[in-house]
Amino acid sequence: MLIVEVIRRKRDGGELSRAEIEELVSAYTRNEVPDYQVAAFLMAAVIRGLSRAETAALTSAMLHSGQVLDFSELKGPKVDKHSTGGVGDKTSLILAPLAAAGGLFVPMISGRGLGHTGGTLDKLEAIPGFRVNLSLEEFRRVLGDIGCAMIGQTAEVAPADKKIYALRDVTGTVESPYLICASIMSKKLAEGLDGLVLDVKTGSGAFMKDPKDAEFLARVMVETGEQMGKRMVALITDMDQPLGRMIGNAIEVRECVEIMQGKTQGSEDLFALTLELAAWMFYLGERAKSVDEGRRLAKQLIENGATLAKFRELVRAQGGGERICDDLERLPKANHKTEVVAPTSGFVQSIECERMGFASLVLGGGRLTKEDTIDPAVGIVLHKKAGDAVSKGESLCTVFYNSEPKLLDARRIISAAYKLGAEKPVPRAMVQKIIEGKSA
Ligand code: URA
Repeated sequence: MLIVEVIRRKRDGGELSRAEIEELVSAYTRNEVPDYQVAAFLMAAVIRGLSRAETAALTSAMLHSGQVLDFSELKGPKVDKHSTGGVGDKTSLILAPLAAAGGLFVPMISGRGLGHTGGTLDKLEAIPGFRVNLSLEEFRRVLGDIGCAMIGQTAEVAPADKKIYALRDVTGTVESPYLICASIMSKKLAEGLDGLVLDVKTGSGAFMKDPKDAEFLARVMVETGEQMGKRMVALITDMDQPLGRMIGNAIEVRECVEIMQGKTQGSEDLFALTLELAAWMFYLGERAKSVDEGRRLAKQLIENGATLAKFRELVRAQGGGERICDDLERLPKANHKTEVVAPTSGFVQSIECERMGFASLVLGGGRLTKEDTIDPAVGIVLHKKAGDAVSKGESLCTVFYNSEPKLLDARRIISAAYKLGAEKPVPRAMVQKIIEGKSA
C-alpha cells in the first residue's frame, strides 16, 4: 500500500477502505511508517472528517493493535462508564464499587489528568498505598475476586492509541470527534465489555463546550460501540460548574467516601449524576428491568452501606490503606488553608469551570509539564455554587495549599472564575440529553 496515496485520497475527501486503515495503523504501531505521514493523515481526517465505516475501522484497528481482554470466564455482565473529562468529576470512584455491589463486573481502565481536567488515577493514588499499575494478571484476579478493579492503561492495551495520541497532542489534531471516538473506544472496548455508559460533558469545563458538538461526539461513539456489538448509551451532562463541592485529589476521595457513608449534603449534583450513571449501568447490564429500577437499586446500595463495603474491599485489594474509609483524617492533608471571599453581595451566576480546574492544577493538584509530580493534599472546597446567595465578605470557597506563590496564582484564578450578579440565575439541567443505542 502506498501511504502517500492514502493520505492524498483522505485530503481530497475520499473514503478509505477498512484494509487501508488497518494497514496504516498496524504499520505505524510497528514503527514502519514515519510520524510525519501519520500526522498528515490525521490532519486530513480532522479537516475532512471520517465516515462511520472509517471511524469503526480506525477504532477496531487501534483496539486490535494490542490485547483485547476476555473476561468470559466471569459469570456476569461486564459494564463500564467513561467520562470525556471535567472538573470535580469523581463519579468513577463511587460507580465502580456501586456497580460491583449490584452484581456487575467493572474492569475499569482510567486516565490521568488531562489539561484542566482531573484524572481518576491521580485521585486513587491519593489513597496511601493504592496501586493503579497492576499487571493484567493482578487486574483479572482483583476483578474476579471483588467485581471491580481500577487501573491505568498498560503497554499491552491499545498501543496504537498511545502513539497516535502523543502525535495528535503536538500536531493540533486532538479536537476531532472521529479521532476522539477511536481513541476512547479503542481503550474501553479492550476491557472486554458487554455494555458501556458514556458521560459526555458539555459547558465551560468540558472539551466539547458546545452542546451540539457534545451530542455529535456522543452519537459517533454510541454508533461505533454498537457496530462492535456493545450495548451503549451516552448521557450529555452539564460541566458548566465543577461537579460536587471538592476539587483536588485527596479531597475528591474524601467527598466520595462521604457520599458512600450517606453524607450527600452539598454534593447533591454529584450524588444525582452518580445515581443516573449507575442506573444506566444496571439497565445495560440487565440487573434492572428499567432505568428507574436501576436508580432505586443504586440508591439502596449506597444507603445500606454495600457500596462503601465494596470500596473498602477494592482499596485493600489494590494495596491501599482501607482505614481511610472510616477515618478520613488518614488522607493526605495540606499544611495551610485560606478563604476566597465574595467581593460583593448577590447570587453566584456561574463558576467558570476551566479556570477552577487550572486553579487546582497550579496549586499542585495537576501537572503543568509531563514531569511534574502531583501534590495529593491540595485542593478547593466550594461553599457556594451557581444560584447560591452570598453576602459581601462571605467565603466562596476554602483553598488548601502548601506553597504561598502557588496560592497567589490560584487565588487570582479563582476570583476570576466566580461570576456574581444581582439576579438568581436559571438552574441548568444536570442530564441534558440521553443518546440511546438501538440495543440499549
Ligand atoms: N481522551 C482520550 O482518551 N482520547 C482523546 O482523544 C480525548 C480524550
